[in-house]
Amino acid sequence: MATTDRQTATLALTHALSAAEHGLPVFPLSATKLPALRSPHRDESPPVHCRGACGLPGHGVHDATTDPATVRALFAAAPRATGYGIACGRPPHRLIGIDLDIDTTHGNDSVAALQHLALQHLFTIPATVTVLTPSGGRHLWLTGPSGVSVPNSAGRLAPGIDVRGAGGYLVGPGSVTTHGRYRLAPGTAHLPPAPCPRALLRLLTPPPRPHRHPAGRTSPTSRQGEGLVQFVRAAHEGQRNTRLFWAACRAYEHGFGDALADALTEAAIRTGLTEQEARAAIASAARLTSPRPNS
Ligand SMILES: [Zn+2]
Repeated sequence: MATTDRQTATLALTHALSAAEHGLPVFPLSATKLPALRSPHRDESPPVHCRGACGLPGHGVHDATTDPATVRALFAAAPRATGYGIACGRPPHRLIGIDLDIDTTHGNDSVAALQHLALQHLFTIPATVTVLTPSGGRHLWLTGPSGVSVPNSAGRLAPGIDVRGAGGYLVGPGSVTTHGRYRLAPGTAHLPPAPCPRALLRLLTPPPRPHRHPAGRTSPTSRQGEGLVQFVRAAHEGQRNTRLFWAACRAYEHGFGDALADALTEAAIRTGLTEQEARAAIASAARLTSPRPNS
């Protein structure tokens, strides 16, 4: 391993230990932002759904720990780690990550979208830890109350705003990825993560899923599915990807993503996307809305 790689790995461990010291559960990430340790079950058939009960490392976000000795052991087993993930939704902070994507090509301003939501729902976005991503986006760190589980979501609040909650993770500041380094925004390093405003918390915890309806009738699900397809079909050139991704996320969150995938693809192709582009956007929506994104 080159010296720079070793330095990057050492720095990643240093940053991870510092986060752990502040009560944030961490685990090693590779330069692709995925867990650096491979699953001990990767060759098992049929696939095993283990969240670490076997006692071995390699379970993604389920490896996350605040214990310094365990953090060191995880990084020792992952010499190619260049960063670290911080598990969201776990005590004491119950971190909620508001991931604001900056999509300049599509003119999609998620910061303005969040401010709009704040005005509409009467909350103030508190001063809090903010991490700048290599692509120009930012992660706001908020804390949640006990007894409330915030699910992961992608684009549900507004296009370009993803939420990392229970079972999700954030790339920690100081991590290096193939796209560059994650760093703390100037002036936010000294701040503790601020409590999530109540009104925002209500937006982040969606109502229970709709029940299934008897066959032969138009269920709310199929009506909603048709609405999503129309939404994609009506996209102008600059919105095609964003709209498709948003619609696919909604469909997956409500449990009919796979059923709607073909109709969404067809609608997206009509707006001028290639089938490959459409399938990729839908697959990415499926991945991001999955309750267990790292398994
Ligand atoms: Zn296991």
